[in-house]
Amino acid sequence: MKITAIKTILASRMHEPERQWFTSTFRSIKADGAFVQIDTDEGLTGIGEACAYGGPTQIKAWVDWLKPELLGCELNQPALPLAAQLHPNGRSAAHDCAVAGIDCALWDLRGQIAGKPTATLLNPNAPGRVRLYASAGCQYDWRARPEQLIEEALGFLAQGFSAYKFRIGTHWAWDKVTVERFLGLVRELAQAVDGRMELMMEGNQRLTEEQALAIAKEIERLGFIWFEEPLPMADIDGYARLNAAVGLPISGGESLTTLEQFRPYLEKGAYGIVQPDVGWCGISEAMRIAEAAARYRVDVCPHSWHNGLMAMANAHLVAALPNPRVLEVCMHQGPLQWESIAQPPLIKDGWLYFPERPGLGVTLAAEIEQRFPYIEGHYGINVER
Ligand SMILES: [Mg+2]
Repeated sequence: MKITAIKTILASRMHEPERQWFTSTFRSIKADGAFVQIDTDEGLTGIGEACAYGGPTQIKAWVDWLKPELLGCELNQPALPLAAQLHPNGRSAAHDCAVAGIDCALWDLRGQIAGKPTATLLNPNAPGRVRLYASAGCQYDWRARPEQLIEEALGFLAQGFSAYKFRIGTHWAWDKVTVERFLGLVRELAQAVDGRMELMMEGNQRLTEEQALAIAKEIERLGFIWFEEPLPMADIDGYARLNAAVGLPISGGESLTTLEQFRPYLEKGAYGIVQPDVGWCGISEAMRIAEAAARYRVDVCPHSWHNGLMAMANAHLVAALPNPRVLEVCMHQGPLQWESIAQPPLIKDGWLYFPERPGLGVTLAAEIEQRFPYIEGHYGINVER
């Protein structure tokens, strides 16, 4: 079976002002999607979502650039042609996201050809469902109503979620927020949740090592599951010290796209959990990363933001892992997230069930480009106060 066509479908939707999400000085004003579609000479079509953080139009340009090398290729070829590989050490987000979208679409096709879910192709013992965690906590403002965080968490609990991750709120300097004030809110949240949901915290690389250590110790005491990217990415030694200082796993690596980039973090013990995202690195590379991480007894809990197709691809990755734990699902993406999918999967009581269809198990909604036409420009703005 040969590849006959490749295209990128871009989609957007402006968030209603009250649905915008924000953290630090950043505010997201729209939802984007970048979907790669690969057609074959035998009528099968594979789809994969590239992480829109690579920039939708730049991703499309890279897919177009890579296309000539892929057209005519046999699908049973074990690897992509050389130019369509990830950069080993480079950091071109758009390029790597384009490759990731292509790779996911190829895994969708491989599953369809085999008549099996992609997860089952990757691991014959893969379960047919994955547990989700509600990823949110970026609509509370330290100046207005920080308790919105607790209301939100209880809302997800009522929806049946068994795990919840939140961010550290608007820019602390605007409102003189200290570690103590922040931890006061965190304790209130933990008390309100009262052990009924697992809790994870996302630092978005905003903390100093001293702040991160104080927070890590307290949230370990509160029974949190992990502490994500508290420090700037480049500070591998700081991560290693922090990860060694507490029993709570320090997690990260969502923007790393190759095993080579993860390697120094693994070698130095920087992470207790790694978080590659198949929308950024592709399923093939995520499996390599997972295999290496397992040798360090480090679990994989992928990053997954944006739309339903990316959630599906990351869900197949989670199901294929030696220790399937949880899948992130963005709670702030709005209607584009699942309405971009023709028949969304069943999500019930905090679990995502694979549809009984081979490959990734979903198709794109037919009217996606008419319904969600791409809107030029960046998805976020920086706000001043
Ligand atoms: Mg993260």
